[in-house]
Amino acid sequence: MAASAGPEIERLIGLLAKLPGLGQRSARRAALALLKRREQLLLPLADALAEAAERVRTCSVCGALDTQDPCAICSDPARDPAVICVVEEAGALWAMERASAFRGRYHVLGGLLSALDGVGPQSLRIDELVGRMHGGTVREVILALPATVDGQTTAHYLAERLAPAGVQITMLARGVPVGGELDWLDDGTIAQAMRARRPA
Ligand SMILES: [Zn+2]
Repeated sequence: MAASAGPEIERLIGLLAKLPGLGQRSARRAALALLKRREQLLLPLADALAEAAERVRTCSVCGALDTQDPCAICSDPARDPAVICVVEEAGALWAMERASAFRGRYHVLGGLLSALDGVGPQSLRIDELVGRMHGGTVREVILALPATVDGQTTAHYLAERLAPAGVQITMLARGVPVGGELDWLDDGTIAQAMRARRPA
């Protein structure tokens, strides 16, 4: 048996190791940092985790995470209900909000279609998205999905499912990032940017 730090600490390490981006080795370092900084880190983190577990819920309308249902964005009368931005996960929603470039509502799919990982339409919040087209309020759906095979497969599937609703379906532009140097970009990005060029 491998040398153990004791069952309580091993349990903490085992749980930390399940977090994205943390393997066993990083989890051990994180556990050590937490245990060494009991007052500044360990206890406040335990409090924050308990509060999140107690209060954070999935919005029944858009699938975002918030302490209220419907979430703050779905409940905000200043946000345009005619435009829905579809994202893979709540992390993408947070990124859009940080950019302050969008004043409509969201729809969080909870993942992407993937034949390889066995993720079909029923595993995602797609029926809920189609359901939001009823009532005629929605005018445009923006598919803000990753520029990956699964992202594009999902976008095409959604475009087909949403077509009968007669709403405008748009996708985010792809191309040269702000501050990006051309000779640092991959061929696919340059080709996309060339196709998506617009009058200066
Ligand atoms: Zn919501």
